[in-house]
Amino acid sequence: MSESCIFCRIIRGEIPSYKIYEDERTLAFLDINPSAPGHTLIIPKAHVTRVEDLSEEDAEALFRTLHRLVGGIQDAMEVPSSTIGINNGPESGQEVPHVHIHIIPRTRGDRGGIMQGLVRTTGRPSGEAMLDIAERIRERVG
Ligand code: 5GP
Ligand code: ZN
Repeated sequence: MSESCIFCRIIRGEIPSYKIYEDERTLAFLDINPSAPGHTLIIPKAHVTRVEDLSEEDAEALFRTLHRLVGGIQDAMEVPSSTIGINNGPESGQEVPHVHIHIIPRTRGDRGGIMQGLVRTTGRPSGEAMLDIAERIRERVG
């Protein structure tokens, strides 16, 4: 828990929210500044800033809640699809330093883009470069 964190304050009920779902480890509520109707945030109840710092239990619990809610959000908003994403760290645009999954309902013609279109810092790397990148990552996660 963090005294000043907005999302911790929502968990404690100090700031009101339009709550959608709650269990032992997670809470889901409507985003106050929605990109589309039904834009929902899912957060761990533990104050953790970044995905890589979540406990395995909270990581599992977050995805379980996402899986549980996403169909109902789409049905309720009468949309066929959604974009699901996490801004992980300030350089990615994270403003609230408490992990949160965005679920943004999507419709054809909503003029939204695709997540992989957010950034373009590379062209298509050579096979050699891809091998090198894969190896560098494997060394750190294996
Ligand atoms: P970020 O850029 O950190 O991924 O996004 C933070 C999100 O939290 C934003 O979409 C913003 O609208 C939402 N948000 C910020 N403060 C509040 C709040 O007090 N209540 C709710 N429900 N959402 C908030
Ligand atoms: Zn917090």
